[in-house]
Amino acid sequence: MSDFEGLKALVTGGASGIGRATAELLAERGARVAVLDLDPSPVDEPLLGHRADVTDDASVREAVAAAVAGLGGLDVLINNAGIGAQGTVEDNPDDEWHRVYDVNVLGIVRTTRVCLPHLRASAHAAIVNTCSIAATAGLPQRALYSATKGAVYSLTLAMAADHVREGIRVNCVNPGTVDTPWVGRLLDAAPDPAAERAALEARQPTGRLVSAAEVAGAVAYLASPLSGATTGTALAVDGGMQGLRLRPV
Ligand code: NAD
Repeated sequence: MSDFEGLKALVTGGASGIGRATAELLAERGARVAVLDLDPSPVDEPLLGHRADVTDDASVREAVAAAVAGLGGLDVLINNAGIGAQGTVEDNPDDEWHRVYDVNVLGIVRTTRVCLPHLRASAHAAIVNTCSIAATAGLPQRALYSATKGAVYSLTLAMAADHVREGIRVNCVNPGTVDTPWVGRLLDAAPDPAAERAALEARQPTGRLVSAAEVAGAVAYLASPLSGATTGTALAVDGGMQGLRLRPV
């Protein structure tokens, strides 16, 4: 996995959690990496931070143009920016559905269509979307979030089919419960965060949460020429949750 040398990568939502771990790993492995985020300030050299909101087409176009100019091209796009939502279909009003879809699904569409012309010029073009086990697991209290990730999964397959003859591979990772600031915020909102964390860990097949670095490792594999014959797949990074047919509740 050291052969990112000379490759240029863009990571959306790369200032925190899974995206940040991915950006750092790709840079460590030799890639030049730009990060697109609502708030890129946590990102330091050698990562190139660009402010962008994936729900705003003009902002994405501007930031991608600046990032690609700074990188000197583009080989790898990591569509990772995403937000959560809790509840059943009775709990979220229409505008909340539109808001979360706008980030999790249309954010990928907007970023990808601006990046495709640059990826076509690459000999090692790869797109990796951050999906979730929620796409296929049937998680309780996650109707809206699951639907967005189901769409990300379908989009991954459709994009893989559309661009395979152009030499652009498209895959996704399906993380389980990952120890990121996002999950930290959810735990902090519980009456007893430590007890909630212990219960969450106990529900994992491995007895622990997945680390952001472990998801980054899977993303890096799918982004690298090592997976050159792999496209249209979802790689689970969930501590065995799906493979062992277990469901978080
Ligand atoms: P996080 O909140 O730590 O990081 C998400 C990043 O995305 C933040 O830096 C945020 O600023 C950025 N972002 C959010 N909205 C944006 C927008 N409109 N435009 C640009 N950037 C935006 O979250 P994380 O846990 O690292 O999650 C990253 C991805 O992983 C998401 O797509 C999420 O659905 C997915 N995921 C997370 C878990 C988990 O357990 N943490 C599990 C499965 C999938």
